[in-house]
Amino acid sequence: MRRTKIIATMGPATDKPDMLENMVQTGVDLFRINYSHQTHLEHRERARVLKEISAREGLEIGLIADLQGPKIRLRRFHNGVVLLQEGDEFTLDPSLPESAGNKTQVGVTYRALAQDVNPGDTLLIDDGRIVLEVVNLVKTQVQCRVVTGGKLSDNKGINLKGGGLSAGALTRKDRKDLLHGVEIGADYFAVSFVSSAADIEQARALLKEAGSNAGIIAKFERMEALENAAAIIEAADAIMIARGDLGVEIGDAALPPVQKKLIKQAQDMDRPVITATQMMESMIYNPIPTRAEVFDVANAILDGTDAVMLSGETSIGKFPDRVVQAMARICEETEKQKETRESHHRISQEFKRIDEAIAMSAMYAANHIKANAIAALTETGSTCLWMSRISSGIPIMAFTRHASTMRKVRLYRGVYPIQFDITHTDPLEANEELIAILLRRKLVSEGDIVLITKGDLRGRRGGTNNLKIIRVGETTEQQI
Ligand code: PGA
Ligand code: MN
Repeated sequence: MRRTKIIATMGPATDKPDMLENMVQTGVDLFRINYSHQTHLEHRERARVLKEISAREGLEIGLIADLQGPKIRLRRFHNGVVLLQEGDEFTLDPSLPESAGNKTQVGVTYRALAQDVNPGDTLLIDDGRIVLEVVNLVKTQVQCRVVTGGKLSDNKGINLKGGGLSAGALTRKDRKDLLHGVEIGADYFAVSFVSSAADIEQARALLKEAGSNAGIIAKFERMEALENAAAIIEAADAIMIARGDLGVEIGDAALPPVQKKLIKQAQDMDRPVITATQMMESMIYNPIPTRAEVFDVANAILDGTDAVMLSGETSIGKFPDRVVQAMARICEETEKQKETRESHHRISQEFKRIDEAIAMSAMYAANHIKANAIAALTETGSTCLWMSRISSGIPIMAFTRHASTMRKVRLYRGVYPIQFDITHTDPLEANEELIAILLRRKLVSEGDIVLITKGDLRGRRGGTNNLKIIRVGETTEQQI
């Protein structure tokens, strides 16, 4: 059983007949729709097809709505493309119309650009392929000199090296997209270009207003996010290491230590982590990954990531199902490494809640008695989240009556949802039933050890207060 979760982005390439179904069968845990591309109509249709497949397969597959955020882009060129040469003068100006770009100037989507930059700053275009130095500011115009030239085409993104663009994380478009995402049943919203916890709080308020209790994923892709990491992680339900834009802002070589540090920090704060961008990039065109990509996925798992994500590889790639297979294969092999099963997590820390203490005790006991499975009866999934912060090879089965919880826990490493309604079960028979389900699914067999956590008051959030250790086959008597 693979513990690391796989997220795949939907797009034109996953619209091919049977493709989404193949991908679900290959083991995608959550799909991502990317509001930076395509229309509401297309996103709605994809979400609908996913729900249909989920229902047919009897699985609750999660849906992540990724909001574009204030990604600053150039507008378009008169001829679609220009060639910039080192030393050329080139001006970015938000007051230029849509297709007015030429060899000396181009429009830009961010009105306040001139207020956020200073002469001497470096602007990186198209993920750093083209480099400009700001020379002079005149009204809305940002006059630059080309440091690294090349072909420049329409709508490319811009980043300011070192960060410092003050645009808020939620644009007008994001608010509309958020409402759309709520409508089509997204389980998580990814907020792009977060710079502080306030961005997350704002998204949370908007979701609440829209009547959704979806989770919020903070995308780390700005320098400022790193400076405010603790507060952002605290405010969010999960984080994404968005290595594309982050790498442009902080420099590619700074990424590996940042990835390790963020994963560790989020884990310490009981938040799941997604590692994203270019993990299997070459498989957009090729049927097999490069060795470097194999190592990248494996290393993210060794760093402790919960999930690995595919972007263009699945949304526009030639082999959306094969890339999932390849990724799954690497995950499974890496998880055989001892390091992925051992934990020193929170060894000397206080637990603040009873359910948290039960979750942690369960993992301690399970790891030492070499349990075969953990069955956690859960309403919101939080017991399973705590458990999954501890490395172990033991599957954590989240028994829940809520479909939304089933989809949410898909993000957590080593956690697998099972539909189970405790409120329709005689409390004296609950243990028996859980074991019977595990046996039926061949997750355990006679003689195995199973840990069960649940609450005395059935169906109460945060109510987990007991832990039971059972040897399968010795459960014929009624157990309370
Ligand atoms: P994006 O975010 O794919 O929405 O740009 C991920 C990243 O920047 O790495
Ligand atoms: Mn990004």
